[in-house]
Amino acid sequence: MAGRESIAARTERAKRILKKLHKQYGDADCALTHKNAFELLIATILSAQSTDETVNKVTPALFKAYPDPESLAVADLESVQEIVHPTGFFRQKAKSIVGAAKRIADEFDGKVPDNIEDLVTLPGVARKTANVVLGTWFGKNVGVVVDTHVGRLADRLKLAWNHKDTKDAIRIEKDLMRVIDQKDWTYVSHALIWHGRKVCSARKPDCENCMLSTECPSEGRI
Ligand code: SF4
Repeated sequence: MAGRESIAARTERAKRILKKLHKQYGDADCALTHKNAFELLIATILSAQSTDETVNKVTPALFKAYPDPESLAVADLESVQEIVHPTGFFRQKAKSIVGAAKRIADEFDGKVPDNIEDLVTLPGVARKTANVVLGTWFGKNVGVVVDTHVGRLADRLKLAWNHKDTKDAIRIEKDLMRVIDQKDWTYVSHALIWHGRKVCSARKPDCENCMLSTECPSEGRI
């Protein structure tokens, strides 16, 4: 049924979903604690395969020791590994954040780039991380961040329809960008993450208490 839904109908449904999400979660924002673009970038790199909660526990010590790209760029790798250890994949992540800081300090005058072309040249930064930084800090809606929650909810709500599975982030992002207004690309990601955590969990979606149930083709089917 949802597979045959027209783009126009899906776009209208997406608008109604956005309205309900806004009513419920207000200005849902990024859950990673940060004070500037540098901190957000580093926290986002660390959040891969981890939780925002865990990242928020390690970043205060990290930014106390290395408050800017210049200091992190010359940090002792082992000391950084020790701090970021709880987030998992700590060797690779330490290498990425020190490498990214070095490139920002050396090539970008100590400032986090505000465009996707430069951002993705930083170690450990793919399109998803770049989208988080551009959307959340610079207010530029260049894409939709598709993490595990957004992938699952886009699939259940049938706001994406060309993906192979919920991990197919590139196709899911493309579909979301077709049916959601560009001005809402960053917001929809934050709001769906909140809804995925609070109501539509992976194992037990609470359809009975979900304010999106009237707009959701998967209501009561999972
Ligand atoms: S109705 Fe159920 S499946 Fe659909 S978004 Fe709500 S909790 Fe998730």
